[in-house]
Amino acid sequence: MDTEVQIKSKIISCGCDLLNTGLVVGTWGNLSARIPNTSFIAVTPSGRNYRTLSVDDIVIVDLDGNVMTGHLKPSSELAVHLEVYRNRPDVGAVIHTHSVFASACAVARHFIPPIVEDVVQAVGGGIEVAEYAMSGTKELAQNAVLALGTKNAVLLANHGVVCCGCNLEEAMTISGLVEKAAQIFIYANQITGAKTLSSNDVDLMRDFYLEDYRKRQGGMDNGKNFIKKC
Ligand code: 13P
Ligand code: ZN
Repeated sequence: MDTEVQIKSKIISCGCDLLNTGLVVGTWGNLSARIPNTSFIAVTPSGRNYRTLSVDDIVIVDLDGNVMTGHLKPSSELAVHLEVYRNRPDVGAVIHTHSVFASACAVARHFIPPIVEDVVQAVGGGIEVAEYAMSGTKELAQNAVLALGTKNAVLLANHGVVCCGCNLEEAMTISGLVEKAAQIFIYANQITGAKTLSSNDVDLMRDFYLEDYRKRQGGMDNGKNFIKKC
């Protein structure tokens, strides 16, 4: 079980990975994770470059958004993160990015249908677009969680994407998978058009991931089988 300091340092290294992979440009994006065995959340500060952060810069808040520790302002999308945690006890980490292909679908306000196995397994199906609301508002948080449902990713109209997972490792993987699925969807539509998987196949793939494949990926969580923790 990660300590608060371990969670904070993982948030910083995941943030740097998002910059390195181009899923985040500049400071537009944010990450958070639950602190195990507490009701507190660790979240990135607003408007700060992840490469310059130290563990003391990560803000700890409660589920109502009250700052417990930290000297910086928490992410301006804190409401989105907290609304996910309040509605989804299975979620241990939330990542918001403005990644290019997912944002292209979000700008077109176009649902990404279930078209490829990996994202279908990890997200639980196609990716809906939340109704538009201004960034940083409670309305955006409510719209995002409504469209997210029980899945692990949602597009924010004219804005970006929110991904979640049982821990930071899974939320990071899903952030990359959603971006890849959006890219494939756009490219396929340049050829003859993306064909959607059947709902029966989607359900089978999701069950396979939850019951089996995610166990094989135990290495994603320091060698431990993280399905037990989710
Ligand atoms: P923060 O820098 O405040 O986390 O927010 C950036 C962003 O993505 C706003 O939508
Ligand atoms: Zn944003």
